[in-house]
Amino acid sequence: HAHTRAPAWATPPAPAPPAGFGPAPPAGGGAAQRSWAAAAPADRARLLRRFAVVIDEHIEELAQLEVREAGHTIGNARWEAGNVRDLLDYSAGGAERLLGRQIPVAGGIDFTILEPLGVVGVIAPWNFPMPIAAWGLAPALAAGNAVLLKPAETTPLTALRLAELALAAGLPEGLFQVLPGEGPVAGSALVEHPGVAKIVFTGSTRTGKHIMTRCAERVKRLTLELGGKSPNVVFADADVEAAAAAAPMSFLDNAGQDCCARTRILVERSVYDRFLDALVPAVSAVVVGDPADEKTQMGPLISAVQRDRVRGLVDGGREADGVRAMLGKAPEGPGFWYPPTVLAGVAPDAPVAVEEVFGPVAVVLPFEDEADAVRQADATDYGLAGSVWTRDVGRALRVSQRLRVGNLSVNSHSSVRYSTPFGGYKQSGLGRELGPDALAAFTETKNVFISTEA
Ligand code: NAD
Repeated sequence: HAHTRAPAWATPPAPAPPAGFGPAPPAGGGAAQRSWAAAAPADRARLLRRFAVVIDEHIEELAQLEVREAGHTIGNARWEAGNVRDLLDYSAGGAERLLGRQIPVAGGIDFTILEPLGVVGVIAPWNFPMPIAAWGLAPALAAGNAVLLKPAETTPLTALRLAELALAAGLPEGLFQVLPGEGPVAGSALVEHPGVAKIVFTGSTRTGKHIMTRCAERVKRLTLELGGKSPNVVFADADVEAAAAAAPMSFLDNAGQDCCARTRILVERSVYDRFLDALVPAVSAVVVGDPADEKTQMGPLISAVQRDRVRGLVDGGREADGVRAMLGKAPEGPGFWYPPTVLAGVAPDAPVAVEEVFGPVAVVLPFEDEADAVRQADATDYGLAGSVWTRDVGRALRVSQRLRVGNLSVNSHSSVRYSTPFGGYKQSGLGRELGPDALAAFTETKNVFISTEA
């Protein structure tokens, strides 16, 4: 074990090994967590940065693993592994900046301490296995917690590799463990276990609601990142051609298996036809194929089950009169392929228009004016992300204030940065991840009053 001598990550002059990094700690997240929490914040930070360096040295290996396991395009998979590295680096700085407050009161001194929760259970979905694991893992560890990660049934491999790399980087044994298995078995065990202080769940709204009821039993802390059906609102005063050119990848990235996918394209009626004319060639230009090929923009879906679900929702939507379907190209033969698909003219309340498809599918709906745009954008139970395309800065600000979504972009579709908060309104989630406050979600605030009159 690396930690029986001076840790390799210590910078000269080497400090004495921090408490708990002596002989191997007993197995189990609890013991590892206690010594981790007792270690100097600077030592925790240094170890997490070292973990980030080791990830950086294995970006290509991790990316290739994700291409093979989940069919992600190689370009995306490299970004995903890089996101883990960046988040570890960013969170590491937080370990030494977990500041409490001193609050003026009469008769004494009052201050707050932010304490780690203990062992945190992270339950991840299959659509972005590495980043979503890291969004829980990195800030939880930085704040002094241990982490048990339950990856999705279909995508355990990168999670297991991350845990090996954590040990290679010198993280104490037992601090970050992976528990692969089925949701109702392994996931449920984390939710029910009294030794797990918090659950961070990312996945479907249905499973999220179930987990919330189970957590209520023990008042277990909970962060939920759930589904989305995000609007992309294009006003007539926008650069309509630019909006049409950007629209395809806003719902085709990761073959649409993205909770932020802009799948409800709302277009002001006066430019509706012009937008569709520009959208059709943009959709067919998207390169769908072998995810290992550097030129590929969209790969296959994760599974046959998922493809059948997507097909069912699209076929249901297409049946209505007057529906126009615009299809891109997809390979045939082995693989869970589904072509880029845009439906125009569907009923605004059709399942394909309001339910999360989680495939390469969007609907285009016309709107009349700003108020109608806001009303339609808000007409789902979800509120995760959204985009607004306009050249009018006043309108951009007004609509940004009115839309009930957690992550909004104007004249852009970007929603995820490790340094900015992420999460949903309404049934898209509870709590926030990432950004400057990410560590706080993994702490309990203790208030201490000391009398100066005793
Ligand atoms: P899912 O809800 O089926 O599964 C998610 C995870 O929960 C898996 O690891 C699964 O094994 C586990 N699980 C299932 N049943 C469980 C139970 N009873 N107890 C404990 N754990 C259980 O979702 P999915 O199909 O894997 O993922 C797709 C969904 O994730 C989509 O709806 C998507 O919108 C959502 N998602 C949301 C975000 C976000 O940040 N808001 C990000 C990515 C994906």
